[in-house]
Amino acid sequence: MKSFMYHYIREGDEAYPWFRYLHIEDFKKQVSYFKHHYNFISKSEFFNSIEQKEPVEDAAILTFDDGLIDHFEAAEYLAAEGLWGIFYIPTGPYQTQKLLDVHRIHVLIGKYGGQEILLTLEKTLRESYIQNEYVDKFEKVTYARQDNDAATKQVKQILNYFLDYQQKDDVLDVLMQKYFPDEALLCKDFYLSPTQIKSMNNMGMVIGAHSVTHPVFSRLDYATQNNEIMNCFKLLDDFVPSNSIKTFCYPYGGDHSFNEDTLMILEKENVDFSFSVEQRDINAHDLIHKKQALPRYDCNQFPFGQASMGLKRAEMMANS
Ligand SMILES: [Zn+2]
Repeated sequence: MKSFMYHYIREGDEAYPWFRYLHIEDFKKQVSYFKHHYNFISKSEFFNSIEQKEPVEDAAILTFDDGLIDHFEAAEYLAAEGLWGIFYIPTGPYQTQKLLDVHRIHVLIGKYGGQEILLTLEKTLRESYIQNEYVDKFEKVTYARQDNDAATKQVKQILNYFLDYQQKDDVLDVLMQKYFPDEALLCKDFYLSPTQIKSMNNMGMVIGAHSVTHPVFSRLDYATQNNEIMNCFKLLDDFVPSNSIKTFCYPYGGDHSFNEDTLMILEKENVDFSFSVEQRDINAHDLIHKKQALPRYDCNQFPFGQASMGLKRAEMMANS
């Protein structure tokens, strides 16, 4: 039994020449490919297999992370094809009217490119925030500025490894104010609305929880993890009171992204099943012993699943 994970599914946008996404036409081609090679089981077949702890041979199910507005069109397509999917929603943006950190980085780099953002990031850190200990660390890593990909890597490295969550938020606030001053409006265009989520559930889609702020759970203490999970389910219950299945998926995914505390909380909350990211099939052992960390393939591991690059990026690749 296989499960597949999707994020951005859209058409190219000239305003975001560096943005990486799966083209909606490639998504449709991939769904047809899966239809030919695997068995898209029904919701009840899938839930039964979880309950019975027996995987269905050749079965496939589709999952979509991050509550992106793209997923409304994907859901409509699935419904028209007689299919269904699980949509994992982070709830923080509905309360803050701000993009999640991970998405702020995507739009900043997607629109302006890694080099521009890296320069502004360094300037911001030097001027306002980070004192000498960080500046020393940067100087060791901010060597490669020869192309946008190297710069993008560095932006992510600095934000994700050198700064704690609070510092990261503050620095991203500064960058967003400079490049996307109307973040509330951007947020509205970026994520599914509560009405869309409800209507997707009515189309037969399953709505799952993906935390509040999209943190790496293994970096948080028990109480904070508990709040992230409980508050996410709570808001989703308000959006979709009729949702009867309780499912969760870890931000980022992979073994390092959660810990024993996370598993305990999910069990305590009677979550039916949870997804991680691991490039392999779901087997009987998983259903018996790892129900709260089921493996899931990235769609890019299969035909038609390769990301499309923004226009600038495609140009650069063609010239190199
Ligand atoms: Zn995510």
